[in-house]
This record gives sequence, C-alpha cells and structure tokens, in this order.
Amino acid sequence: MPDFDLLIRGAQPFENVGIADGKFAAFAAGSAREEVDARGLRLLPGVIDAHVHFNDPGRADWEGFATGSQAAALGGTTTFFDMPLNAHPPTLDRASFDGKRAAAEAQSVVDFALWGGLTPINLDKLEELRDCGVIGLKAFMANSGIDDFPSVPPATLLDGMKRAAKLGLIVAVHAESDEATNRLGAAAQQSGRTTIRDYLNSRPVSAELEAIRMAIEFAGETGCGLHIVHVSCGSGVALIAEARARGINVTCETCPHYLVLTDEDMERIGALAKCAPPLRDIAEQKGLLDHLRAGHITTVGSDHSPAPASMKSDANFFKVWGGISGVQHLLPLLLDLGLDLDLLAQVTAANVAERFRLSPRKGSLAIGADADFVLADLGAVETITADSLQYRHPHSPYVGRRVSGVVQHTFLRGQPVVYNRRLTGSKLGQLIKPNA
Ligand SMILES: [Zn+2]
Repeated sequence: MPDFDLLIRGAQPFENVGIADGKFAAFAAGSAREEVDARGLRLLPGVIDAHVHFNDPGRADWEGFATGSQAAALGGTTTFFDMPLNAHPPTLDRASFDGKRAAAEAQSVVDFALWGGLTPINLDKLEELRDCGVIGLKAFMANSGIDDFPSVPPATLLDGMKRAAKLGLIVAVHAESDEATNRLGAAAQQSGRTTIRDYLNSRPVSAELEAIRMAIEFAGETGCGLHIVHVSCGSGVALIAEARARGINVTCETCPHYLVLTDEDMERIGALAKCAPPLRDIAEQKGLLDHLRAGHITTVGSDHSPAPASMKSDANFFKVWGGISGVQHLLPLLLDLGLDLDLLAQVTAANVAERFRLSPRKGSLAIGADADFVLADLGAVETITADSLQYRHPHSPYVGRRVSGVVQHTFLRGQPVVYNRRLTGSKLGQLIKPNA
C-alpha cells in the first residue's frame, strides 16, 4: 500500500508534497501511486475567486458554467463564488438556488459556492437562502443593469443587514451612490455627452465613497458582516481600513482590472474595459496598490462579467454592456505585478476562505485541507491572445498584454483539472457551503 495517491516532487517551496484521499497528507517524501515532476515550478494554493457572473441558467449564451469554470481552471482558480445575477432567474429563493446548483454541478470543472441576492423583493427569503447554504448575500446600492435584480434603497439595505446579521450571513455590496450616478448619467445623456470620458465623469470617486460610508454606517448599526466588492480606488480602501480599525466588521475586495488598467486605458480599449465603478486615474490606482501591499485589501476577485460582442458596441458608451471578462487571468495578472507570494496566497485564497467560513477545508496548504493547488512557472512570459481565451465570447481587455507567470497545472482535491496547460475534461465541481 503506497503512502500517497500522488506525490508532487521538486516544486518550490516544498520539495515533496504527498496527497491522499484528495487532501494534503504530508510535506515529505514517501511512496505514491503517481508522481508529478514539478521541478522549476512554484506551488500555490488554488485561487478562490469570490466574484464571478457565469449567467447560468437563463443567460448561458453570455457564458455558462462549462466555459466559465474551464477558463477559471486554466487560470489557477479551483473554487468560484457565482453572483446571484445575471442568471435568470436570479438567485433569490430556494427554487432559483436549486436550479443554479443543478446547472453548475452538471458542468463545472472546479468547486463552487453560490451567492444569494438581497433585494427589495426577497427580504422574506433570506432565511431560506441561508438554509440552502449561500456563501453570503449580494446587494446593489446603485442600478444593477438587470431589471430582475432591483437595487436596495438605503432603508431596505439597513433592514436587510439587520436580518442578515441575525442569520449570520455576510452582506456584499456594490457601493456607488444611486442618486449621484443616476443624476450625472441622465444629465450627460440628455445633453448628448455620451463618450467614454463622459461615462467616466458620471461615476466619480465621490459617488463610490458616499456609498461606502453609508454601508459602513449600517454595518456599525446592525453588526452585520459587510464585504465591499470591487473597490476601485485607494481612497475607498482607506475608509474601510479606518472603519475596521474602529472595530467595524468590514472587509473589501478589489479586482485585477483596477490594479493594472486606468481610466486612460478605458478610453483606449473602449467597451471591453467598461465596468462599474469605472477604471480610475493613476493616483487612485497607486493608492490601491499601496493598500494591497499594506494588507488592507482582504480579497482580490475577478468580477468576471462577460457578454456577447453584440452588447459591447454602441455609439452611446452609456448603453454598452458593462463588465470585464477576466476570470482566466486573475492569478497571472497578480503574479505579473510581482506581489509578495505570501500576500498573494492570502488575498486569493486564505483570506477568502476565512472571511466566508470555508477554513480549514479550503484556501490553505495545510495537512488535512483539500489539495486544491496550482503549479505555476513564474519565469515564463506569454502574451495573452484571443485564441487562448476559453470564454464563450473570446474577448477581453487583456488580449495583447504580456504577463510573466504562467499556470502550468491546476489540481482540484488532488485531481488534475488542467495538466500542461490543457484541460483534462474532468467535471469534478461540487457545491461548497460555509461552515455552520
Ligand atoms: Zn460583479
């Protein structure tokens, strides 16, 4: 009887990694049924991407769990959390949760958790969603862009956060002022100002800060765990870090696009780089990078939000679908930034697992944890091409970009999902629920 099912030999920083029954069994040599020669590669925890929109069921023609999860795996992601919109129906109750779970289990090559929605039309379903095992609740403080997922006015958000606190659920918010973004957006379009720069001007940093302040206020009042998604600016993270220092239960996420692209890139690239909050100027981006390096940003998620090319072109930039296709490059882009590898492992795995109560099963390289990991060639450089994108619609603002740091193999619970940069065809994905 061999000691392990699988032995990974020669990777940094462990000479030997033994895996048995899908879990890390020992960081030492031993006999094994199979061995992988990983000399020259770096072993990193599999990425837990807490923010994707795979739009399945209902809008699988925008992405779907098959191509979405495959792209995730190629980029080193072993668990994703799917947002409650833009699938149809949105995940607002048990029936929609069960429908999405079935669609993901049938197609996903990596593990997944599901977000539930917090909207004015499902406040009586939050307990039901908790019982289903949602990873948390997502609310929009500004227009979501999708009619079947209404935003929450302040009083509703406060009420929802009170309920979520009782249920032990974290609330994630898209933080932009609805009043300010609507007013500025309407004024621009009415006067025919519809360029990329006009769109940028209609979603200022001040609108984001106003919403972040309000959400923090509500977290203090209700005791609800708050996670502010896709913070785009250093000044936003500063508010959150200051609140956390005061004892408020608040964490935040940023996305690779805010770290590597600016407002000028949005003007240059156009629709493929449209997102909300929008890309910011170089000073806010520098602030964001400083806060990331200082450990003030809890998680980095891709906010992968794809759409067909037909929705990405309109003379009026306000009418173009907002959302960046990026799940395949979360890890390569962070590796390319040259982040400290321990910090990288925290913001892409350990912190996510801790914040969303998946520890100790997920998110760490520890004995007994699920053997979800990546073997990456940190010295390899490649140019991202449209051909290499696994998305249903192979476009991305990162096409043409050179990155150093290439994912060679991705393993889920000790099984190869990507081997030598190719998908193995394993459909192993399981629903992961937070610890009680
Ligand atoms: Zn999103």
